[in-house]
Amino acid sequence: MSRFWSPAIQSLVPYTPGEQPKIDGLTKLNTNENPYPPAPAVHQALSAFDSGRLRLYPDPDASHLKNALAAEFGLNREQVFVGNGSDEVLAHAFMAFFRQEQPLLMPETTYSFYDVYANLYAIEHIKVPLTERFEIDLASYQNENGGIIFANPNAPTGVALPLTAIRSLLERNRDSVVLVDEAYVDFGGESSASLVNEYPNLLVVQTFSKSRSLAGLRIGYALGSAELIDGLERVKNSFNSYPLDMLAIEAACASLSDKSYFEETCAKIIATREKTRQALEKLGFETLPSATNFLFTRHSELPGSELMDYLRSNKILVRHFSKPLIADYLRITIGTDTEMERLISTLEMHPVIARRVAR
Ligand code: PMP
Repeated sequence: MSRFWSPAIQSLVPYTPGEQPKIDGLTKLNTNENPYPPAPAVHQALSAFDSGRLRLYPDPDASHLKNALAAEFGLNREQVFVGNGSDEVLAHAFMAFFRQEQPLLMPETTYSFYDVYANLYAIEHIKVPLTERFEIDLASYQNENGGIIFANPNAPTGVALPLTAIRSLLERNRDSVVLVDEAYVDFGGESSASLVNEYPNLLVVQTFSKSRSLAGLRIGYALGSAELIDGLERVKNSFNSYPLDMLAIEAACASLSDKSYFEETCAKIIATREKTRQALEKLGFETLPSATNFLFTRHSELPGSELMDYLRSNKILVRHFSKPLIADYLRITIGTDTEMERLISTLEMHPVIARRVAR
């Protein structure tokens, strides 16, 4: 608290990102980063970058990147927006579309930044419960609303919705913006990007942080009708003209140029995820179906917080949310096979789990 803060800031509860500790020998499975390096083309582009160029401002419109993304998704560049991480794109979308008379609808359990942005911009919002199986139930998004936002696949559950469910929501919800956050879609979800030309109120947000291994450069984007993108540009150009620096633009374009590396690394992560799921099951874990690069899992005998502390004391970081509905669960990022073997062998050494395995 400070008397110098604006009144609205006094009550803000900011988002808490997963820790980034600098501890040697840590197995870091807590922030859904990709365990593999970015595509070789990214390394080449950054190595060849002439630092003399840095005296100039970057292209405020990041045209090369917008063109590359438009080509990737079969859209026009007027249908593409880019920002400093998808978090920034989401923040601009809240500002541009969701400050309406009617409340914003969002899942009760989802990416916790949505709540933070809604509070930041004083947006009234209604949290719609998930089903018993932790699925987003779009059939219950019936209230009059000033917008709808959800992640598909959802976080931190990892559970994905089929495109048919999203299409039927869009068929009946035509008067407010539907934002689908697809941060994890490349690990097994169905993208709504293919519906952008049909529904002018659909905004699809994706990121280079997860499937493209570029979390450190902060690159996110949105796909939607030119009308929606124009709304985002108005907010962006009232906030920061140059959200993407030159290195980020170059690296993102290079990453898009190497499709086979992208597909290979996503497939590796999916294979490791399914192997890990099976290994966890043998240890007494129950894991939700995941279309992401993480598993949301709970043990039949051990509380989530205790397991997190146990793993941490063994230099393995995972994420635990102390919210009532999900307090039993751990969210475990998929690392390399070696990292996941270390996770499993550490869990096997927990006395309760060891006893169970010996039975
Ligand atoms: N959406 C979801 C569902 C996420 O989990 C994350 C990562 N924390 C983001 C968006 C933001 O990712 P970034 O800002 O790195 O693009």
